[in-house]
Amino acid sequence: MSTLHAGYFSTGLDADPELAAAIAGELKRQQDGIELIASENLVSRCVLEAQGSVLTNKTVEGLPYGRYYGGAEFADAIEALAVKRATELFGCAFANVQPHSGSNANAGVYLGLLKLGDCILSMNTAAGGHISHGHPATLTGRDYRIVPYGVSRETEQIDMAEVRALALKERPRLIIVGGSAYPRSLDFSGFRAIADEVGAFLMVDMAHFAGLVAAGVYPHPFPHAHVVTSTTYKSLRGARGGLVLWNDPALTDRISYGIFPGVQGSVMMHAVAGKAACFGEALKPEFKAYNAAVIANARALAETLQQCGVRIVSGGTDSGLMLVDLAARGIDGSLAAKALEAAGIAVNKNLIPFDPNPPEAPSGLRLSANAGTARGFGVEEFVAIGQMIDRVLRAPKDEAVLASVLASVRAMAARFPIYTKGP
Ligand SMILES: *Cc1c(COP(=O)(O)O)cnc(C)c1O
Repeated sequence: MSTLHAGYFSTGLDADPELAAAIAGELKRQQDGIELIASENLVSRCVLEAQGSVLTNKTVEGLPYGRYYGGAEFADAIEALAVKRATELFGCAFANVQPHSGSNANAGVYLGLLKLGDCILSMNTAAGGHISHGHPATLTGRDYRIVPYGVSRETEQIDMAEVRALALKERPRLIIVGGSAYPRSLDFSGFRAIADEVGAFLMVDMAHFAGLVAAGVYPHPFPHAHVVTSTTYKSLRGARGGLVLWNDPALTDRISYGIFPGVQGSVMMHAVAGKAACFGEALKPEFKAYNAAVIANARALAETLQQCGVRIVSGGTDSGLMLVDLAARGIDGSLAAKALEAAGIAVNKNLIPFDPNPPEAPSGLRLSANAGTARGFGVEEFVAIGQMIDRVLRAPKDEAVLASVLASVRAMAARFPIYTKGP
């Protein structure tokens, strides 16, 4: 009997009809729907191919040109290329492209720069911070002393005087800026001044706005941050994974060892290849235009919803994502997200600052223009999307309304086809 089944090296997903059907379903969902989830985007076919390549077969540990395993010639070249492009893209001296995810990038930095029990000052999740910044349910929350800062009740934006007062009182070793649901721009130089005053490292987690930074349409974390972490698959529009950037050579070993062997093992070379492809695309002039369009489109969506009488947290967006306060419609984020999904619009429910409701049924929705802009939607489409959302929020249980919006969604999606050559 053959040791390999027929078609092992030649037949693709067709060899597994059950799995193929589910993947085809996901492709169709992406093609036919409107994607407003801020942590998602639509990658190029080049990124798809790089991430689905034979690099998945290669195991390497350590850094390029210093691997534990042999046969690393091309893996070295690919990772070195990703590093070179990342440093060029973000104008910094060093990059580590190995983190499997944004959370791993953060955990590796903490392990490299901190001692067990050190204090971290980070934004609380209720105000838009990310769980990997010290949520009690995570290892980070257990291993470090987390002091959260929030936003001001009046402006729903970070109050730098409050951050400074907390820093002076708690003497953190690390201050983290950047969140998952913070819609406005951030004062990196103000944070650095506070970090310097108390002798802390400043880490900027730009997971959500990395693409905007690369394109120059959002404040740049350098030279203010000691370390910058990111994901590569949100506004950066690339392969899944994480990234760490820094300038001080004295931090190099600490960060590298914090990631490997600190928090993860061998490199996902296929993901690194995908990152190299994405950084290459982000260096092209079109990427600037894409991110400028993300901001313009997000503002058009926010303004449309405001004109419909829905409140946008903090009054707008600088970061391409926005939080919608559903109070005026008397429904919670869970019901709203389900109704929108039934109408073909993917969003996520989200806490808003000082939310009176629990995370399972929060008062808000988080929306972003990342993915819609990638498929070619412009201001006109985002105004129309705002009006569709308003219709659903006014009648979330009305089947006729949901069906009518779904028809509009399908029609709009059909005008902007994606991945027409199949998965
Ligand atoms: C999305 C996100 C992460 C985590 O990324 P994973 O890849 O899911 O681990 C980390 N930090 C911030 C601010 C994020 O928005």
